[in-house]
Amino acid sequence: MLEKNLIGGNWVGGAQALEIRNPSDLSDLIATYGLAGTGEVEAAFAAARKAQPAWGRATLEQRSLVLEAIARGIFDNKDKLAQILAREGGKTVPDALGEVMRAGHIARFFAGEALRLPGEKLGSVRPNVDVEITRDPVGVVGLITPWNFPVATPMWKIAPALAFGNGVVWKPSEKTPGISVAIAEIVAASGIPAGVFNLLIGAGPDVGAAVIAQADAISFTGSSTTGRRIAVACAERLIRCQMEMGGKNPLVVLDDADLDLAADIAVNGAFFQQGQRCTASSRLIVTSGIHDAFVKACADRIARLRVGHALKAETQIGPVIDDTQFRKNLGYIDIAKSENARLATGGEALELDTKGYYLAPTLFADTTNAMRINREEVFGPVATVIRVADYEEALAVANDTDYGLSAGICTTSMKHARHFQRNVEAGMTMLNLPTAGVDYHTPFGGRKASSYGPREQGRYAVEFYTQIKTSYLLA
Ligand code: NAD
Repeated sequence: MLEKNLIGGNWVGGAQALEIRNPSDLSDLIATYGLAGTGEVEAAFAAARKAQPAWGRATLEQRSLVLEAIARGIFDNKDKLAQILAREGGKTVPDALGEVMRAGHIARFFAGEALRLPGEKLGSVRPNVDVEITRDPVGVVGLITPWNFPVATPMWKIAPALAFGNGVVWKPSEKTPGISVAIAEIVAASGIPAGVFNLLIGAGPDVGAAVIAQADAISFTGSSTTGRRIAVACAERLIRCQMEMGGKNPLVVLDDADLDLAADIAVNGAFFQQGQRCTASSRLIVTSGIHDAFVKACADRIARLRVGHALKAETQIGPVIDDTQFRKNLGYIDIAKSENARLATGGEALELDTKGYYLAPTLFADTTNAMRINREEVFGPVATVIRVADYEEALAVANDTDYGLSAGICTTSMKHARHFQRNVEAGMTMLNLPTAGVDYHTPFGGRKASSYGPREQGRYAVEFYTQIKTSYLLA
């Protein structure tokens, strides 16, 4: 059993064994990990609380250099990390490499941000008084992350947390421990003082809950159901929280769109990375004039996608992450069929050379926005088409959802593009681009059940990872 929890600079084991298998080939047992329990959570917070004050007082340059070393460690090990991610998480190697590079760029960006800690000096309404507004670290933050972007998502939390002087206790998804350990090894080798950064491989309900019970702040990415529960727990403790959650992202396609471009955008946004992206285009909302040609163009492209072992060079779509997700996806395919959605392509599990969690990318047409398949997040290679009369109806359908993460439109009309940008209820909007795929230096997040709390990423990250102090000084 691997001893792979990082506590106070030491690698330690855990009592309960966790076996991780390759989702592309279930006969490939990758490793067995010792899961952390609540005792390890106590130890991690004790270590972080001891180490954080000095880290919070470290010079901006000391912290920047650590972030730079993390970025370098990621770039230097990019191929190895991509292989680990592809084998454990089922991403194709190019997708895995793209995510690893993104994580390196994020760490490098925050090496710069560490030097740009903002502050402000104001005049006073009283004579001979100066006012200074400064930012302190929050303390020890708990970071809880999902399996679908197990390198980039943690890095866009770890990097700003460290850059602004916080201690970190990171609990990644228990479905992707190998890549989490590989990232933690790079952080541990960056010159960071022992105890500032800690890793716990543990299950959500017990270890996650114990982290929430001790942290000064929680940054979470995962499902809306879990996020809602965690936000309540944080409110009870009066600690700040930042929640990035699910999506049911609309892609509107208008009659005047470039058909080939729109079909490419839809297929990329809906199916790449097996649709396991919070920003995946799951609802394709299409006006009548282009509808039939669009469905055909998408179905033709989808049927040509090569599903296979994530480590094989020719594979475009790998397996889904695990048995739970595989069954959930098949369950939603059955739900859509029972709701009388028309199967345009896919709709079945695939048996390939190796036994894995392979699903045919699936497109349903003739759906309505009231169907469960259009209300609930599937989080797999399944998308639907909703036919609408015109732009006005398309916008109303796009906004008729509990979620509000990313929303796209394919059109050549400036009038509709600008109106959509202003009126769609989403945190991110895309014009003639897939709903998934964002820059690493810009704020990321949504509205409604997709996000709660301050934005992540870019220079906006400072809001969550620092607390403001207003000081009055008599001259
Ligand atoms: P999940 O909610 O099941 O788990 C996320 C994390 O929370 C994991 O580390 C898990 O162990 C932990 N957890 C589970 N129950 C917990 C509890 N009771 N207390 C504390 N921690 C707990 O989500 P998932 O299946 O890992 O990820 C998929 C979801 O993540 C999808 O809904 C997807 O849309 C969402 N997601 C959102 C974004 C975003 O930025 N908006 C990005 C990626 C994924």
